[in-house]
Amino acid sequence: MKFCSLRSGSSGNAIYIGYKDVHLLVDAGLTGRTIEKALLNIGVHPEQISAILITHEHKDHILGAGVLSRRYDIPIYANKATWEAMERDVKEIKEENRLYFVTGEEFEIGEIKIKPFKKPHDAAEPVGFSFKAGGKKISIATDLGYMTRGVAYNLMESDLILLEANHDVKMLTTGPYPWPLKKRILSDVGHLSNEAAGETLVKLFKMKMIGMAFLGHLSQVNNTPELAFFTVTNMLKKWGIKSKIGMALRNIESELIEI
Ligand SMILES: [Zn+2]
Ligand SMILES: [Zn+2]
Repeated sequence: MKFCSLRSGSSGNAIYIGYKDVHLLVDAGLTGRTIEKALLNIGVHPEQISAILITHEHKDHILGAGVLSRRYDIPIYANKATWEAMERDVKEIKEENRLYFVTGEEFEIGEIKIKPFKKPHDAAEPVGFSFKAGGKKISIATDLGYMTRGVAYNLMESDLILLEANHDVKMLTTGPYPWPLKKRILSDVGHLSNEAAGETLVKLFKMKMIGMAFLGHLSQVNNTPELAFFTVTNMLKKWGIKSKIGMALRNIESELIEI
């Protein structure tokens, strides 16, 4: 399987997952042009995209979804509540490109098995995804207020995970955001902090439940890539864990990983 974070962060998210001739986009939260260019940079033509899977209806996850679907005739998959919530923003989508999954129920696109799982976030019915193909598993969980048992369970036995490390709690609480927004981010339906991401990774690596991890959906104001990386790797080091940690950043494609 192939994995590349094309863009990750509150300014827009799009993740590429590929296996054989199936090429998937998880979210399309940037302009169509930006996503097209990022795909071409990793050698994938937008016309090859088999489907766009939507985690939730926030703008940073759906901005270019409608445009790409119309431009390249790409089906969009989301659960019913998300479709209803994003209807107005994605605009006119051809009936045959409007596809539904049920949260918690596995489905297939080509040879990739996909499991959408529930996560706590302030959207209609937000999900993370696990992808299985060729004996490998990749999981994605960003935009979640806290690590639930259910999400942790779905991350287990992954060869690669993309996990949110949204903010440094101190930078957020002392930073410029208005209090209601700080409260929202810190809440159970907000975003995962560097420390919370680190705690989750310590547990998963200790149990040998994951292969490698990418940190993503970093806040531009309340975090820096260096701070997220060092906070998490220092926590891992304390437990003698030396696993590779990749970064999924806002303005550039991550390395293209093949597992
Ligand atoms: Zn987001
Ligand atoms: Zn969100």
